[in-house]
Amino acid sequence: MEYRRLGKTELQVSALGIGALKYGSVTQETASEIVKAAHQNGINYIDTARGYGESEIRLGHALKKLRLRDRFYLSSKIINRDFKQFQQDFETILSNLQTDYLDILFIHDVSTRENWDKVRSNGILDYVQELRSKGRIRHIGVSTHDCGIGEEIIRTGIFEAAMLAYNPTNLEAEDTLFPLCAAMDLGVIVMKPLGGGVLSEERSRQMGFSVTAEECLKFAMSSPYVSTVIPGLDKAEYLNIALHAVNSYIDMTEENRRAVIAKVDIKVKNYCRGCGYCRPCPQGIPIPDVLKYWNRWEVFGGVDWSQMHRITEEYTKEVPDSGTPDHCISCGACTKKCPFNLPIPKLMETAAKNLRRY
Ligand code: SF4
Ligand code: SF4
Repeated sequence: MEYRRLGKTELQVSALGIGALKYGSVTQETASEIVKAAHQNGINYIDTARGYGESEIRLGHALKKLRLRDRFYLSSKIINRDFKQFQQDFETILSNLQTDYLDILFIHDVSTRENWDKVRSNGILDYVQELRSKGRIRHIGVSTHDCGIGEEIIRTGIFEAAMLAYNPTNLEAEDTLFPLCAAMDLGVIVMKPLGGGVLSEERSRQMGFSVTAEECLKFAMSSPYVSTVIPGLDKAEYLNIALHAVNSYIDMTEENRRAVIAKVDIKVKNYCRGCGYCRPCPQGIPIPDVLKYWNRWEVFGGVDWSQMHRITEEYTKEVPDSGTPDHCISCGACTKKCPFNLPIPKLMETAAKNLRRY
């Protein structure tokens, strides 16, 4: 196993960690077996969250029974923005994990301005710093899905580690937050290396991608900015794939990385490039905007709930009620102009049936 410095935390974390999102839905026996096998193979970092159901409880039992608490760096995350609830959540985490300290406490999913304003104004930042000074947590981290807000958060200098989504379908952090984290010495932990399940073997096949889970893991591990990658390892076979990736990622040359991106990029069905040649629509539908959200929904729908929530929110804000796809009358004016021959009226019909609004 390779170990890497996690930024200014100075923790030496294994390049492969465990994302325990699904531990609430596996048996205690399975959770314990995976934790044991992970330890035997040199993995030393596990991440969970207060919002992951029974995950913390399963991990707490496993670590206690196997007497492995001090062999892992443990992190959990809190999404509550109410100060009192945040405090209660922290106590619940320690109790669930059967430990008296956390290696990293993350403020979970700070991805909108409203959310960040609440974190800043509700006393949460002072509280986490107080927890650190008392030794109840060792380090403070933040997870975000938004590079704009993420930049502002990271520049405060309060955080020591950032948990960021990164995979061949989501490269946004690569040119923005990764270099900023490096400049400010924040450790980067990659979440969603398989696109929140989109690039898992089965789903990848359904989507018509030829990319494998192992390639996606190697892709994330081979970024020079990344300290550790935390796929959801809730089955022994996933652990084996991930271990194979970490032991062979060195083969992932720049050329191979580009090839992995291309496998995903060109296979999105009816992918709208946003060129706008199809405009204007006589019915007032902002076609590229609708298709932008529809393409994202096709990738994440039914798989990644946080992305679905975000798509619904942004789609409702950006596309007015007067421009929703159910206004399409199939006049065909747009299809003649689309250089990629997208079946726009058909896509409008499908989007109207499936894209959710608030
Ligand atoms: S087919 Fe539908 S989306 Fe295209 S221009 Fe006509 S009304 Fe607008
Ligand atoms: S012309 Fe085609 S690819 Fe371009 S924005 Fe319209 S639908 Fe999308």
